[in-house]
Amino acid sequence: MPPSATDGRESDSSRLPVPADRAIGIDVGGTKLLGVVVDTAEPSTPIAVVRRSTPVGTEALVESLVALVAELDADTSAPVGIGLPGLVDHDDRFRYGPNLPAVDDVDLGDLLGSRVGRPVVVDNDATCATAAEFRFGAGVGHSDGVLLTIGTGIGAGLFVDGTVRRGANGFAGEPGHMLVDRNGPACPCGRRGCWERFASGSGLGRLGRDAALAGRLSAAVDLAGDAEAVRGEHVVAAARDGDRDAGAVLDEFAWWLAAGIGNLVDVLDPSIVVLGGGVMDASDVLLDRIAEAVPAQVMGSDHRPAVTIAVALAGEHAGAVGAALVASESV
Ligand SMILES: [Zn+2]
Repeated sequence: MPPSATDGRESDSSRLPVPADRAIGIDVGGTKLLGVVVDTAEPSTPIAVVRRSTPVGTEALVESLVALVAELDADTSAPVGIGLPGLVDHDDRFRYGPNLPAVDDVDLGDLLGSRVGRPVVVDNDATCATAAEFRFGAGVGHSDGVLLTIGTGIGAGLFVDGTVRRGANGFAGEPGHMLVDRNGPACPCGRRGCWERFASGSGLGRLGRDAALAGRLSAAVDLAGDAEAVRGEHVVAAARDGDRDAGAVLDEFAWWLAAGIGNLVDVLDPSIVVLGGGVMDASDVLLDRIAEAVPAQVMGSDHRPAVTIAVALAGEHAGAVGAALVASESV
């Protein structure tokens, strides 16, 4: 068991102090580790930020995390929160994550806690980002909302009745794998036609290539050099230049996003859906399209308040800062 905040005695000078207002958060991505130290009273601006590349394999990951914790905070025994892309159970065990293929089902909380001698909490990365977003980001003032991080895939977190929800096992909030087309493209999760195959960055790229191969989208093809090379960024750049074909692809992409958002609104009745992730760097050409497409996808939309569609504000450190918040609240 990791030490608790109360088991250090004042006479025991060998123990490092456990500060009440400091926590460490580490966001484990497919390619990089982002570590922060935050003052939990003012978490929006980290005290320290360290980036490292994500090593391959479970043992190498644990060694990197141990080193990163020591580098971030050698002077206290501040609690540590780790956010990972995938299924993490209530006992801090990482179960499964298609974007961390070299990391096995592992009891990361116990393993890391025994190495660093501090409280360690492990959680889903998007759930961590949701904790940050509703604490000091776009979700402030809302008791019920959803965070969607639109990147290579779709990460998500659920905020219900004023708290982050994790479900019976800790696995709630994976709407990217809602099945929307039984004949759709293959998904890394092993099924076909998951929502994120259409409504993520890779989905936008595929919609763009389909349009280019059908003879449309010449402006994006010029930017990419070849129809097969068209990616989402080329579609976005062409749309910003006013290209109508590219705008039509963004309309189609916004429809797919709105279709899934509408399903989530029907299930959860949130007052806000916050959109983050790399794709939302194109919010200037996407946000209005998505917001305009959502009402038609919501049951009885003429008879209920409009759900706010907003861009995430908690910033690039949101996952790491949120992991720190989750850890501080668990101590
Ligand atoms: Zn899937």
